[in-house]
Amino acid sequence: MTKVEPGPSGRSFQELRLELNRDYCSLGSWKKVAEKWSYDVGVVCHKATISRMAAGKYEPKRYEIRCVFGLHTSGTIKPIAGAIPDGTQALFAQQCECGQYYISNHPLRRKCFVCSPYRKRKRNG
Ligand SMILES: [Zn+2]
Repeated sequence: MTKVEPGPSGRSFQELRLELNRDYCSLGSWKKVAEKWSYDVGVVCHKATISRMAAGKYEPKRYEIRCVFGLHTSGTIKPIAGAIPDGTQALFAQQCECGQYYISNHPLRRKCFVCSPYRKRKRNG
């Protein structure tokens, strides 16, 4: 998975954590915070999930869940195997020397993700 630019709308995870902790202070229990959020977002939120998010131990990664909490979303790049159906359009698609179309994750990328697979940056430690 490759992170791209955060969407223009949406809050950061830190902002969500602050809000959850503020709710905990005013409501007094994670159960009540979970109930409030379930009501607000229209999806059942478990108190364990809510409290783990507030503690910064769990940040939702799935697009759908991030949308539920109003978190800014990041994109994922999926290589498409095989032919792209006629009429498919992609902004900024480029063509590799192998003939495969791809959407660049970097201005200097000149090859598709098959010829030049994306490498995760190693973390320290
Ligand atoms: Zn290629």
